[in-house]
Amino acid sequence: MATIKCIGILTSGGDAPGMNAAIRAVTRSAIFNGFEVKGIYRGYRGLITGEIKQFKTENVSNIIQQGGTILKTARCQEFQTEEGRKQAYETLKREGIDALVVIGGDGSLTGARTFAQEFDYPIIGLPGTIDNDLYGTDLTIGYDTALNTIMDAVDKIRDTASSHERLFFIEVMGRDAGFLALNGAIATGCEAAIIPEISTEIDQLEELVENGFRKSKNSSIVLVAESPTTGGAMQLAERVKNEYPQYDVRVTILGHIQRGGSPSAQDRILASRMGAAAIDALIEGQRNVMIGVRNDEIVYVPFSKAIKYDKPINRELLNTLRRLSI
Ligand code: ADP
Repeated sequence: MATIKCIGILTSGGDAPGMNAAIRAVTRSAIFNGFEVKGIYRGYRGLITGEIKQFKTENVSNIIQQGGTILKTARCQEFQTEEGRKQAYETLKREGIDALVVIGGDGSLTGARTFAQEFDYPIIGLPGTIDNDLYGTDLTIGYDTALNTIMDAVDKIRDTASSHERLFFIEVMGRDAGFLALNGAIATGCEAAIIPEISTEIDQLEELVENGFRKSKNSSIVLVAESPTTGGAMQLAERVKNEYPQYDVRVTILGHIQRGGSPSAQDRILASRMGAAAIDALIEGQRNVMIGVRNDEIVYVPFSKAIKYDKPINRELLNTLRRLSI
């Protein structure tokens, strides 16, 4: 394998709090180990257009506490074509970048895997997504902060829900995964979470109504994952209005607020550990793996596994929520 002298770093796909802490950790750890570092702007698009800057340690000063990503992020159609990826490879050669660290979600790591295979190029992935939906890691960068944002918002809605004795459906992110909805519901004492993982098994809304939304309570809050499988909060609220008109229903869609904010301590520490581990992995000769954390230990997860398998939801959490919402 050719010796690695210069490492490129980019953030891609949906942004997540803690990406900056990861950029800082990759940059500092690489420089500490004697590598040169180049920051690539706007994800894969910057690889194609050559938006690249040399990074010194001071380029990543004072960013650990900032949400978003200083490298910006983008979605890039051209990278999904052979021609686009060829252009990206030409840029890497021209810039003398010998290996890449890609911080992003499922889509970004899928692109990384294809590229790495096509050009026999070393890439290490870091799981940066608020959805926590990557297989092989207990946590992803940004998930804990998003969960805390949801918790703060739901606590506030609880005040008005209980004053007016209303039923609220609150939609949270998570297209294919119910981690935010389920753990958000547990953290805020919600009555239920409607999540994609069990949508095909039962009619979750009917089950909720049959069990009685309210019981002894004067208000109810249900968290709904935004997924097409759940139908989303709007659709569920419409159903309740039509089928159970006795309820005074309201909907809140939390939306992009969930992506923002200063990362939590947990996300900063996770991103710092994973960023440093990405450089260790390259030094050890690893390639085409995502850095994960399992039982508090750093692990290497082959891209093929991280993107192919669905991360299972812990059923014990569902049972806990059911038991505690009586
Ligand atoms: P996320 O990484 O947050 O899941 P996306 O799914 O939007 O975000 O993916 C981010 C980018 O990764 C896309 O815009 C595209 O450039 C690249 N990408 C996604 N899927 C593929 C693929 N199958 N092949 C090549 N590149 C891909």
